[in-house]
Amino acid sequence: MTGSILVLNAGSSSVKYQLIDQRSEATLASGLVERIGHPVSQLRHSNGHYATSREVTAADHAQAVAAIVAIFNEEGPSLAEAGVVGVGHRVVMGGPDLFEPLVIDDSLVATIEDLAPLAPLHNPANAATIKIARALLPDVPHVAVFDTAFFQKLPSVASSYAIDPDLAKAHGIRRYGFHGISHEYVSATVAEFLAQHQPATNPQELRQVVLHLGNGASASAVVGSRAVDTSMGFTPLEGLVMGTRSGDIDPSVAFYLVREHGMTLDEVDHLLNYNSGLLALAGSNDMRDVHAAIADGSDGAALGFAIYVRRLQKYIGAYAAAMGGIDAITFTAGVGENDPVVRSATIEQLEFLGVRIDPAANAAGLSNADSPTVISTADSRVTVLVAATREELSIARQVAALI
Ligand code: ADP
Repeated sequence: MTGSILVLNAGSSSVKYQLIDQRSEATLASGLVERIGHPVSQLRHSNGHYATSREVTAADHAQAVAAIVAIFNEEGPSLAEAGVVGVGHRVVMGGPDLFEPLVIDDSLVATIEDLAPLAPLHNPANAATIKIARALLPDVPHVAVFDTAFFQKLPSVASSYAIDPDLAKAHGIRRYGFHGISHEYVSATVAEFLAQHQPATNPQELRQVVLHLGNGASASAVVGSRAVDTSMGFTPLEGLVMGTRSGDIDPSVAFYLVREHGMTLDEVDHLLNYNSGLLALAGSNDMRDVHAAIADGSDGAALGFAIYVRRLQKYIGAYAAAMGGIDAITFTAGVGENDPVVRSATIEQLEFLGVRIDPAANAAGLSNADSPTVISTADSRVTVLVAATREELSIARQVAALI
């Protein structure tokens, strides 16, 4: 067996992982620990031959990573036999200075910890995961890949807020953008696909909108291989309606709730990050439940769905204007890859831009995880696609390139 790379992707209450073969880029094993910090956590592991799901104790991220290393030893493939040559860590926030992938040392771990005020949900989890992984797998390099990297070079017109520039600079306040690993991977995959299948395409000038619709959700505008705008900002709270996050909201709502209704800042922070979005509007943060509630006649769920879709349409329209036109729209991540209803509801309203969806292709959805599927008609002026995001593969490639 050739070398492989272990990728760890820590969220606030979960750690996802994949073991990726360097030569074939196949996923040798994958899984996740979720409900970290609850009395009982859940571990799912699959290795191509066999999948298992079991309860584990993971009071914190250190115990979760220990459980992951243990399951590799128990169920295989053994990390020793798989010849792990490096470990890649998705780090959500690199702050104003860190963007390129870096081999991790003690001082980088301290820096990631110090950035916690900018990413309180994610960076402490990333740092804890990195520490235990370095202790358990000390003989190979560990690499941090930053989720903000793709948006580092956003033009100032997109990265700046309309506030005092000196204040913004002094405090590192800008639109950082998140889900960058996914937006970069998907936009590059689509550009390559269109160059092959639509010979008139010039990948250098291709104007794309990528819609990463998972539990967190974000849109990006990409011209050639460069991101020119994105919907998440200083934190992952801005932009689209998400599973539990409000997305765009007038900041005065927060001032008003604190000043007039006795909420603390922490309570408002929690409200907008964890108890808003689809969960608040439609009763669940899972789009499948939202459809079921609509089918049961819930007006709240129907309104929640409509607000979700309207926000998507507004961003697509805004980005078409910002790019002076639009050549491709791509849906990716949990909702984007699996939900034909969200896709058709979003696109139907955009016929004025020359976008036409093919109902049968949309219903059939993604036909191949390795390659995008076109779901627009042959005469559509804009190509609409569904593409699988492979953030872990992208991280593994960046780790391999660095070590
Ligand atoms: P994240 O990485 O942000 O946790 P994912 O990209 O895995 O999220 O997306 C998870 C979300 O995808 C779920 O919360 C659910 O809303 C949605 N989802 C998953 N499968 C489907 C499906 N078949 N139909 C509609 N939505 C789905």
